[in-house]
Amino acid sequence: MNDIERNLHNIRTSLTNDVTLVAVSKTKPVSEIMKAYDAGQRIFGENKIQEMAKKWENMPKDIRWHMIGHVQTNKVKYMAHFVDLIHAVDSLKLLKEIDKQAKKHNRTINCLLQIKIAEEESKFGLNEEDAIALLNSQEVKDLTNVHIQGLMGMATFTNDQNQVKAEFQKIKSFFDQNVSKYPKLKILSIGMSGDYKDAIDCGSTMVRIGSSIFGARNYNLR
Ligand SMILES: *Cc1c(COP(=O)(O)O)cnc(C)c1O
Repeated sequence: MNDIERNLHNIRTSLTNDVTLVAVSKTKPVSEIMKAYDAGQRIFGENKIQEMAKKWENMPKDIRWHMIGHVQTNKVKYMAHFVDLIHAVDSLKLLKEIDKQAKKHNRTINCLLQIKIAEEESKFGLNEEDAIALLNSQEVKDLTNVHIQGLMGMATFTNDQNQVKAEFQKIKSFFDQNVSKYPKLKILSIGMSGDYKDAIDCGSTMVRIGSSIFGARNYNLR
């Protein structure tokens, strides 16, 4: 067993069946990612669109590629033909562009709304009120080629486990309050290498794990 295979195995055994594992492969070369593929992993997450597109071209086509990073509207076209799920959608403008590009390829693109849960000042993510407004807006309901499937959140980058848990609990209760109103919201994407066990305790259905599978990255990208 190579390291990646062993790491994957250990993480999988700690996940329950209802939690989907996204293997975050950003900055890692195809040769390393193929070790995870050969160990059965089929969902990979990247945070740069061009890097993801290049990997998509060079790798087996049964991989489901998730865009987990911030998306600039003008770059949606580089992934619209293959991306499976976009995690960090936080504006109507972006949703409209995803819909437009998806139509060109006769596809539907799955999306999650990114909710701002971290205390630290972050430019990205919706507050709860704006997320509700977006879900209720007729303009969003009229989009035929996007499926909003759930919510995504990123906790504050801190060693304070209690704070991280509190932030996860906050998005989980927001999720629970709204799942019945919007039955298509089924995915709660929270949890990374350092905090995924807490995230699962708090109701995560999708974890995004990079360094615990592939090892530390050369440069520190969150
Ligand atoms: C990089 C990244 C991850 C994975 O981080 P690790 O700590 O390496 O597991 C998860 N989510 C997002 C949005 C990321 O950018």
